[in-house]
Amino acid sequence: MSGMHRDRLNGNGIRREKQRRTVRNVIRIASLFLFNGYLTGFRNGRIFTGRTKSVCVPVLNCYSCPGALGACPIGSLQAALGTSGGRFPFYVLGTLMLFGAVLGRLTCGLLCPFGLIQDLLAKITSKRITVPKKTDRLLRYLKYAVLALFVIILPAFFRDDFGSSVPWFCKYICPAGTLEGGIPLTLADRALREMTGPLFWWKVLLLAAVIAGSVFIERFFCRYLCPLGAFYSLFSRVSAARMKIDSSACISCGKCGSVCPMALDPVRQISSAECILCGRCADICPAEAVSLRFSLFSVNALREKD
Ligand code: SF4
Ligand code: SF4
Repeated sequence: MSGMHRDRLNGNGIRREKQRRTVRNVIRIASLFLFNGYLTGFRNGRIFTGRTKSVCVPVLNCYSCPGALGACPIGSLQAALGTSGGRFPFYVLGTLMLFGAVLGRLTCGLLCPFGLIQDLLAKITSKRITVPKKTDRLLRYLKYAVLALFVIILPAFFRDDFGSSVPWFCKYICPAGTLEGGIPLTLADRALREMTGPLFWWKVLLLAAVIAGSVFIERFFCRYLCPLGAFYSLFSRVSAARMKIDSSACISCGKCGSVCPMALDPVRQISSAECILCGRCADICPAEAVSLRFSLFSVNALREKD
């Protein structure tokens, strides 16, 4: 390949990468406002109670965030399971399954406001902690345990004398809820400030730990703790949206692995349940061997070799 031809290809590649990144950033900011468009709420410290609040959004976005226009699916699932005389949560599960089947973890990579926050936190420093492989693999199972225990089992089976339960994940863990709902509401409302106790400070501590983790380990919460990510990852082999790699075009330069926020090697793990379809590997690939595709009605064969 002549030098001039390569330069032109590199120039085109850089332009394409910039365009794709711009489109993604526009979508991410638009979804942030779509899910949190009630800006007055931040000023008066009141949550939105209009009709859209009964609609389940596909991302982890706290119901109590002053700007939230919809309901968080993880909060809704716990509420449905924990209500006395509870009914099967057809609506919430149906919504999640629909998004799981169509977008899969593209919701994590492209639409989730808490994902965006983690990506911004990761920009604070380029220093990264490399979690040893074995520990990393074990820790990634934690999010499934959080989903099973705190979102499903405890709300569904540990009830008070009146037959109701508490939303265990929201109440005791969710750092997105603390950041988006707990802290802004407490800051805006003096009565709430006077009521803060050990539970509030426990959640602030947990949030601080997640923030610190996200600075040094990209997508720390998505990798290890997010129950919604765990749910969507169950759809990674069947979802319409998926990353594809053209092995014959790959020149084994390793660039894709160096930018993956989920610490994957896209060449070997392109169909991993851990892939959030962020598209960074596709952006950086000089051979254009990686791409985001939408294909209905086909099962994704697992390409992981390890
Ligand atoms: S494999 Fe590619 S699309 Fe998937 S998380 Fe890593 S960089 Fe993003
Ligand atoms: S960046 Fe592209 S060419 Fe390089 S190893 Fe990854 S897929 Fe192959």
